Amino acid sequence: MNAGAARAADAAPGTSQITLQGIERVFHLGDSSVHALDRVNLHLAPGEYVSVMGPSGSGKSTLLNVLGLLDRPDAGHYVLEGRDVTTLSPDEQAQVRSRRIGFVFQSFHLVPRLTAAENIALPMVLAGIPARERETRVQQALAGFGLADRASHRPDQLSGGQRQRVAIARATIMQPALLLADEPTGNLDRATGDEVIRLLEALNAGGVTLVMVTHDAALGARARRCIRMEDGAIRVDERRPGAPPGAPSGAQEGPLPEAGAADART
Ligand code: ADP
Ligand code: MG
Repeated sequence: MNAGAARAADAAPGTSQITLQGIERVFHLGDSSVHALDRVNLHLAPGEYVSVMGPSGSGKSTLLNVLGLLDRPDAGHYVLEGRDVTTLSPDEQAQVRSRRIGFVFQSFHLVPRLTAAENIALPMVLAGIPARERETRVQQALAGFGLADRASHRPDQLSGGQRQRVAIARATIMQPALLLADEPTGNLDRATGDEVIRLLEALNAGGVTLVMVTHDAALGARARRCIRMEDGAIRVDERRPGAPPGAPSGAQEGPLPEAGAADART
């Protein structure tokens, strides 16, 4: 799916795909203010697999929203692939988001009135990709994510696992360099959640940088780099010993989970 994306192992040492420098995000509610992000500094190399953990309210979603250009920091700089994206106009940010970033949410965020195929096609419609190419890529994605027989189903006609697979297909149909997942298994049972994690890990093994928020310690520990947030700050940032960034973890068996196996569980 992301066969063209660079593997971290192939990238020059020290290459930074993402740099956050002194990022602040403050929310004001009446008289009180919340420092959701407090001077956050972060470097991510291409192809990394990072989990973000921490108590509720510690700023995990705010961090992901800033990384995904869904929210603007109040101070600091965000450099994505060598470009300071903090100062871009909303339209320019939307362009970057469309081409470089995929986002997966806990509650799927599919468009209820659209079919699975139409949901997956949506980013390509917005990006102005011709209908014929859209059709080809949607068919490939449906097959690749084990959804070929669900193309015409609307979200309310799909299981949770199928909805999240549609959402992941939609998030990756533009072949982003960065995939952000905010508690992607939070609404799924364990077996279905494990399928979704393996899918995300397979995409990471194909080259996409994966940043995943989770409150599940077992899932968080699968990542090669684990970040722990508290009070809007990164308190812990550790790499799993012996795991170079971007190297396959050995946990995945192939490029994508076998469609039949995924269907059987969801
Ligand atoms: P987490 O994802 O770790 O649970 P969040 O990033 O959602 O935490 O929130 C961090 C803090 O910022 C919390 O105190 C939360 O209440 C506050 N916050 C987040 N978004 C908003 C918002 N849109 N308006 C006001 N406060 C917010
Ligand atoms: Mg959150």
